[in-house]
Amino acid sequence: MRSIQHRIGGVPVGGSTAAAVHDPATGQQTGEVVLGRHAEVDAAVGSAARAFAAWSEVSLTRRARIMFALRDLLERHEDELARLITAEHGKVLDDARGEVVRGREVVEFACGIPQMLKGEYSDQVSSGVDAFSFRQPLGVCAGIVPFNFPVMVPLWMHPIAIACGNTFVLKPSERVPSASNLVAELYAEAGLPDGVFNVLHGDRDTADALITHPDVAAVSFVGSTPVARHVHEAASAAGKRVQALGGAKNHAVVLPDADLDLAADQITAAAYGSAGQRCMAISVAVAVGEAADPLIERLAGRARAITVGPGADPASEMGPLISAAARDRVTRHVEAAERDGAKLVVDGRGLAGPGFFVGPCLLDAVTTGMPAYQEEIFGPVLVVLRAETLDEAIALVNANPYGNGTAVFTSSGEAARRFQRAVHVGMIGVNVPIPVPMAFYSFGGWKASLFGDTHVHGPEGVRFYTRAKAVTSRWPEPAGQAETSGMAFPTAR
Ligand code: NAD
Repeated sequence: MRSIQHRIGGVPVGGSTAAAVHDPATGQQTGEVVLGRHAEVDAAVGSAARAFAAWSEVSLTRRARIMFALRDLLERHEDELARLITAEHGKVLDDARGEVVRGREVVEFACGIPQMLKGEYSDQVSSGVDAFSFRQPLGVCAGIVPFNFPVMVPLWMHPIAIACGNTFVLKPSERVPSASNLVAELYAEAGLPDGVFNVLHGDRDTADALITHPDVAAVSFVGSTPVARHVHEAASAAGKRVQALGGAKNHAVVLPDADLDLAADQITAAAYGSAGQRCMAISVAVAVGEAADPLIERLAGRARAITVGPGADPASEMGPLISAAARDRVTRHVEAAERDGAKLVVDGRGLAGPGFFVGPCLLDAVTTGMPAYQEEIFGPVLVVLRAETLDEAIALVNANPYGNGTAVFTSSGEAARRFQRAVHVGMIGVNVPIPVPMAFYSFGGWKASLFGDTHVHGPEGVRFYTRAKAVTSRWPEPAGQAETSGMAFPTAR
């Protein structure tokens, strides 16, 4: 049985306990991953803490050069990384390649770190006195990440943390551990010193030990809302800087003046791509007015036409779910919604095969009281609600506890502008279903989709992984010219 080890201080490290890793397309166990306990957590944080002293002194240009080298290696190993993702997550290969590319874009942003870390300078804030500010790294940063983007979500964090001069301990999801070890090897090949980037595998116990470790300065978390809330509370109580991104229920509002074919194509891809296991998946369509019936007809036709199969098969458009438990959760939600009075327009249950497959499901006549609407199903289920007006649709979006992403489909600039200004959501698409910001912006939701203040990557990522110093300085002036200071609180002269 293949054993997936930690990578601490540049070398593989074993452990005393392990968890099974599966291929979701077959349901078979393909390996086991070690689970870090206190000794390995200490070893990983210790390795990162020792490396920090030297790494934080490395010049900006050299740090940037390592990011350029990593960027090229990620491009060269794109296919290998995508295959590792598909083998453990199940998503189709094209989708896996897409996440590697989007993750690499964060490394491209990190290549420009000398520009991002420029400080401010004010000459002569008082006579003979100058003031300036600059930002310094924090120390050891920890990243705890979900299963659904084994390469991209970690890349939202560690390239920026490391380019800013920090060292990093990544705890990947125990369900998709292998790609992170390859990324660690690529960092080493790019010239990153041992100990700057460490991979600590594990489960919730590993995560809890890591986020409260006294030598960890900051915690970045991406995962489900209950865990994000817990990580934010526990790490904050332990004195860490924390950003914790949670789950989502993303609404696409379709107005009657929208191009309904375009809207249906885009919503279908966003609802069922990666089997709905994306934090930016569209899981709710809100059909406004007379858009409803023609939209549902189009959505149903497209959902039925999706080819479901193993992610490694080029004919597949949608792969399996991550686990048998996830498959059963989706099935239960669909059954409950039908019992509650929703209309099951497309039924993806009951697919043959040993893997964790559920086909696209489309539920019409869903109401806000149903669990299928209230909960993040995180599977290939699109629920349709109806609203009479744009204002009613906006009120629906805003009443939902999540605020990660939302989209509006319309041909009216006025309606789009009203929507983008009024919704309480962090990322908005106008005729774009998955409005994932580019690497040079920052990614993050509002409300129950984010705990903490800063979004990830882009300028907010740089701020999160650094802290500012402000210096006020005076240099000795020729004898007799310096002003004498009195006992009063100094003010500018
Ligand atoms: P999860 O919350 O179960 O696990 C995320 C990570 O936390 C894993 O590394 C896991 O080992 C660890 N963990 C699990 N329980 C823990 C606990 N009690 N204490 C400490 N650590 C714990 O999430 P998942 O199932 O791996 O991923 C899917 C979820 O992630 C969905 O809710 C999805 O919306 C969300 N997600 C959000 C974003 C975003 O940007 N907001 C991006 C991707 C995924």
